[in-house]
Amino acid sequence: MGKSLPVLHSPGTPASQSAFPSNVTRFDSPATRGSDNPYDGRTVDDFKPYLVALNLTKRCNLKCDHCYLDATTKLGGGNDELTTEECYRLIDQIAEVNRGCLLVITGGEPLVRPDILDIARHAVKLGFMVVFGTNGMLIDDPMAKELVDIGVMGVGISIDSLDPEKHNAFRGLAKAWEGALAGIEACKRNGLQFQIHFSAQPMNYQELPKVVDWAHDLGAKVLNVFFMVCTGRGEELSDITPSQYEEVLGYLVDCQDKYNDMLVRARCAPHFKRLAYEKDPNSPITKAQGYMGGGCLAGTNYARVTPNGDLTPCPYMPLSAGNVRDKSFVDLWERSDIFDSFRYPHLKGKCGDCEYSEICGGCRARPYVDHGDWLDEDEWCLYTPKGGDKVEVAFNVPEATSVVWDEAAETRLNRIPYFLRAMVKKGVERHAVERNLSVVTIELMEELRKKRFGNETPVFKF
Ligand code: SF4
Ligand code: SF4
Repeated sequence: MGKSLPVLHSPGTPASQSAFPSNVTRFDSPATRGSDNPYDGRTVDDFKPYLVALNLTKRCNLKCDHCYLDATTKLGGGNDELTTEECYRLIDQIAEVNRGCLLVITGGEPLVRPDILDIARHAVKLGFMVVFGTNGMLIDDPMAKELVDIGVMGVGISIDSLDPEKHNAFRGLAKAWEGALAGIEACKRNGLQFQIHFSAQPMNYQELPKVVDWAHDLGAKVLNVFFMVCTGRGEELSDITPSQYEEVLGYLVDCQDKYNDMLVRARCAPHFKRLAYEKDPNSPITKAQGYMGGGCLAGTNYARVTPNGDLTPCPYMPLSAGNVRDKSFVDLWERSDIFDSFRYPHLKGKCGDCEYSEICGGCRARPYVDHGDWLDEDEWCLYTPKGGDKVEVAFNVPEATSVVWDEAAETRLNRIPYFLRAMVKKGVERHAVERNLSVVTIELMEELRKKRFGNETPVFKF
């Protein structure tokens, strides 16, 4: 694990599969599948970007051990970054494919980039949901207020340990902990929603139960626990072992029942869904497809743009489909063999054989970083497939119901990303049946949204 890889560029768009590295497993393309072979029922409309990470700068005010961008210090690293105008153009192009998607503006530390608020403003005006991934140190009251005024939905602030000394040592700066906490308090004072991000590593994974309680007491609505793929500066770190990984995921599955008002999710550990299914086949985690359920959306509904404009399937994969300076985001998203390989994969090894491949599928970055074949099995999963039927994904399983949706409610339902739609639909219908209501209306949806999230906006608006 953790070999140093240059950004690998796609040989062309469109390109023939023969141009791929020879060890990469073959995959179908829409052309080879044919319209009479619908695979799993998904259509091109299901391959919209719902989550795009914009790594808009390498610059950072910290020097974290695990940074996948190998972010340079505050003063350097800005020369080849997309300009303000290029960022606007990129965002306009993303809007051509799906302006309802969630844009995560991050870096490096995004708030050190002087034009970052203008870029966020541009995206919000176009209708995007915008959040920032930040270390929190540059968020004071005026900054938090400005982010709220712009319409930014929230910020994700990273915490690596509840021990300030450990956090500061890892982040490479004294007072990083105090800065992050001050940032969180500024968010709270100014009504800016915040999530806590925690990267599970050998040095801190045993702290997780305390971190979950701490985040809950702090008022976080979401705790995202990331499982690092060792790239960038993180190549020098060792990952947690597969059995530690399994232990942490099991704990996170148990957390689902414990905290009703805070989502606790594993990120970049798709077999979180397999563990959830083993515990309860009707678990909301397994019904929620992709990111919200803790699965992997890389290349299917998720992409990342690097500071100089390369489009990759996710932040941990330095595998470029092309550069947005040379081609439009729309072209790269819709007509790249790299992206098709994630949408119609023939997974190798145990991931290919596994009953859970439809709801999990493994992390594609781990085999890529390890030996270049992103469609190979995920060796960080301990499961041995048993050869049973494939566990189906929720969006392919229609459920009989006596409840009908009026037109306005149905329109709103259809605006919800498909990987959340089945879960939301089922929850609303169950509620309607419990209250003897035969029709779902906008008012009922709004009432349930408020019940779930208070007056705050949920992670995905609906
Ligand atoms: S490929 Fe791995 S690192 Fe990338 S989004 Fe999927 S689970 Fe996360
Ligand atoms: S073997 Fe692969 S598809 Fe199956 S649970 Fe493990 S990571 Fe997921």
